[in-house]
Amino acid sequence: MKHRNISLSGDEQDVCSASGCGNNPKRSIPRKRVEKTGSLNLQGSSRKVALCSDCYRIFKKSSKKDRTMESLGR
Ligand SMILES: [Zn+2]
Repeated sequence: MKHRNISLSGDEQDVCSASGCGNNPKRSIPRKRVEKTGSLNLQGSSRKVALCSDCYRIFKKSSKKDRTMESLGR
């Protein structure tokens, strides 16, 4: 049987937190960090969001951009 419990700090989610995406989550990331990038539409209201590998890639890409801008602004 394929039944795994992914613990996401008390908040159980079986699908990616990006709206419109129904993939299995691979990563759990603080919601703020994802919101900051503005690259994904998030569902729910938990502090942490679960992202599938695809959405995580999108997030990672935009957060990299964000980080570059941050370092420039310093
Ligand atoms: Zn996703």
